[in-house]
Amino acid sequence: MNVVLYARVSSEKQADKGLSIPAQLDRLREFCELNGHIILREFVDEGITGTTDTRPQFQEMIRFCKLSQEINGVLVWSFSRFSRDRVHSVVYKQILLSHGVKVISITEQITPGIDAEIIEGFFELIDSQKPKRSAVDTMRGMAEVARQGYYPLSTAPMGYKRTQVGEGKQRRFQLIPDEGTAPLIRRIFEIYLSQGIGAKELAKKLNNEGLRTPRGHRWGTNSVLRTLRNPIYKGTLHIEFRTRNAEFLADKDQVIHLESAHEPLVDADTFDKAQSLLARRASTSPKTLGSKFLLSGLLRCGKCGLRLYGKSAKSGAYHYYECQQRIQSGPDSCPSHAINAQRLNAIVLKKTSEVLLEPANIEALTQQVNDELGDHDQVISDRLKLLEEELRKRRGQIERLLDALEEGKSASALISQRLTARQEELRMLEAERFTLRSEDAAHLVQRVELDRVLPYVESLKQTLATAPVKTQRFILKSFIKRITVQETAITIEFSIPQEKQTDPLKAGVLGTVTSGTPQRIRTRQRVPSDDA
Ligand SMILES: [Zn+2]
Repeated sequence: MNVVLYARVSSEKQADKGLSIPAQLDRLREFCELNGHIILREFVDEGITGTTDTRPQFQEMIRFCKLSQEINGVLVWSFSRFSRDRVHSVVYKQILLSHGVKVISITEQITPGIDAEIIEGFFELIDSQKPKRSAVDTMRGMAEVARQGYYPLSTAPMGYKRTQVGEGKQRRFQLIPDEGTAPLIRRIFEIYLSQGIGAKELAKKLNNEGLRTPRGHRWGTNSVLRTLRNPIYKGTLHIEFRTRNAEFLADKDQVIHLESAHEPLVDADTFDKAQSLLARRASTSPKTLGSKFLLSGLLRCGKCGLRLYGKSAKSGAYHYYECQQRIQSGPDSCPSHAINAQRLNAIVLKKTSEVLLEPANIEALTQQVNDELGDHDQVISDRLKLLEEELRKRRGQIERLLDALEEGKSASALISQRLTARQEELRMLEAERFTLRSEDAAHLVQRVELDRVLPYVESLKQTLATAPVKTQRFILKSFIKRITVQETAITIEFSIPQEKQTDPLKAGVLGTVTSGTPQRIRTRQRVPSDDA
């Protein structure tokens, strides 16, 4: 496939975080090489925000794609590089598509099996309702800084300190042992391997010796375990982004893993021995299983307001969500209950499918999209009127100049100079009118038809019911802002408009009460508590 590349940074600040033009281009070229694409041209906008469409290279790229018969695709690092404004994005994608050119993001893939075009539109809509992607850009920036061989976090782990390298925009940090606290870390590994005691005992021992964490706290089981498990101490930098925004990162940017990234505090052999010892002991203690906990990151405790985390019972047969307060400070610290994870997962999936994908709600969403497009249409037609006016004026001027030239009233050199200038202006105005008219036409095509959306809803329902957990979670997080778990009810806050309520769930124990505005509805739902 023949492609052009488009890269953009909005400010020096962004470039400084490592999301540089060269980095974007590198990744794009790499992608092309892997997939056998031929690059015909590269376009770069620097220091220009993605919300305006008066980006010189962007416009040049659109023109180039329209004129060239050979281009099949525009490759971007992410759709946010192409455009941050959803309406513009849709318009230009449509214009390009009408010339046989597809816009492809190399980091955001669309789930196969679903009408790619429609789901893409939905993600764009949802995206425009979310806080901007600065968090994602920050994470990408950190991955880039790490790849360049620097330490990307703002605080050093215990046992290390950061040392500054370079000044100003070039300022980076490296990790070096902190000789004040490094011996303590080495000692923890030494005790763990030599004395055959568990983390709890080890913490007690440290506390009894009067040793404290670098922040002055007493040692606990968790801080000891965190220390023993942290590969940073064998020189490996390992960072996993687990926030909601991390879903938008390329797989390789979701995890930063670099060996020999800095000076180790313990040798690899010691570290590995500690890990196998930990694994042997851990087989008898509770552990968390990520995949069971579909709703991680969405749940809040209605009593204390903290997040709910997934936990498994000792037998491994029961999985439940429990608030951070209870997990950290014991069951007496918060009057909430642990909630059966499988049951809550099923309820939320069913409810989302019912309430959110209710055709009336989809209709409302469709209406919202079309209203937005309508606003943009108004802007276009206003601008077109102005253009017509300007064009009439220029044509009049040109005519008068031609008359003057014919009658030989003034110096012909001066007149033809003016004539050239007016004709050039005329051409520019006509070009703009052409672009605006294509946008206008593109809108008519793009206007979302309900008939096309409904099959998508069906397939999304299907996906929600059968897809792997990762996909389910992605969809849920796209549509749900927050789920608050109260003693006898859960409140789901959706992030898209809601027009019509669905009937309460029929399952006996689950009554529903709904309240709120159509914009942000709350669905209350009683769930049984479960102290698994
Ligand atoms: Zn709580």
